[in-house]
Amino acid sequence: MIIAANLKTNLTRKQTTEYLNTLEGLIQTSKSTQEVLVFPATSSLIPHAGHIIVGAQNAYPAVNGAFTGEIGAEHLAEFGITTILIGHSERRHVLGESQEELVKKFNFYKELGFKIVYCVGEPLSLREAGEEAMMEYIDAQYEGIDLSYENLIIAYEPVWAIGTGLTPTLQDIEELHAKLKEKCSAPLLYGGSVKVANAKEVMALKSVDGVLVGGAALNVNDFNAMINIAQELEKK
Ligand code: PEP
Repeated sequence: MIIAANLKTNLTRKQTTEYLNTLEGLIQTSKSTQEVLVFPATSSLIPHAGHIIVGAQNAYPAVNGAFTGEIGAEHLAEFGITTILIGHSERRHVLGESQEELVKKFNFYKELGFKIVYCVGEPLSLREAGEEAMMEYIDAQYEGIDLSYENLIIAYEPVWAIGTGLTPTLQDIEELHAKLKEKCSAPLLYGGSVKVANAKEVMALKSVDGVLVGGAALNVNDFNAMINIAQELEKK
């Protein structure tokens, strides 16, 4: 399974270094074979060798240039980063990134061979508007994205479940994931208020290939506990 941590705008470089070192130690002890991804804040990126794959939460679709406030591919290369999160709901809805911009980012980092975790998910108003409206909204987030890209991972994250403590029912996750699996055979993660207490039931769902965890991943022991839960489930 794929267990990913989005650290968002949290943890300084020093704290991130400690986090990664602690997590590497815990993984070494447990001998976990799960794929573990950690996305630190941009200024906390560090070169990292080990079991954990460190990825960028965001970068501009350029090697370098006049894009004030952004970082480009050459800045990621400095840290050996070859994994990127694209389309997170906070970038879509808080930072206002359009589908067109996300497609540019996707194509640019795809050309560089990056592993891309591409996020989709609906706001509450669309969920409440009924299945047709909701699926139309989610379908539009797939527009322009090469779904056959071999280094693609999709993360379904309902916007209303991110950082709120709310989650869809297990049946809702299963049904929605089954539909998304019909569109694309890439591994499909669930994200939105996953924590130690609910990780097992979510990851046990047939159509869930892993989880993308925000708030609950900030505690390294909790994140490690979720990695261990994934390992246990895989043994069965
Ligand atoms: C996220 O940021 O991708 C996320 C799922 O956050 P949280 O786990 O806090 O809901």
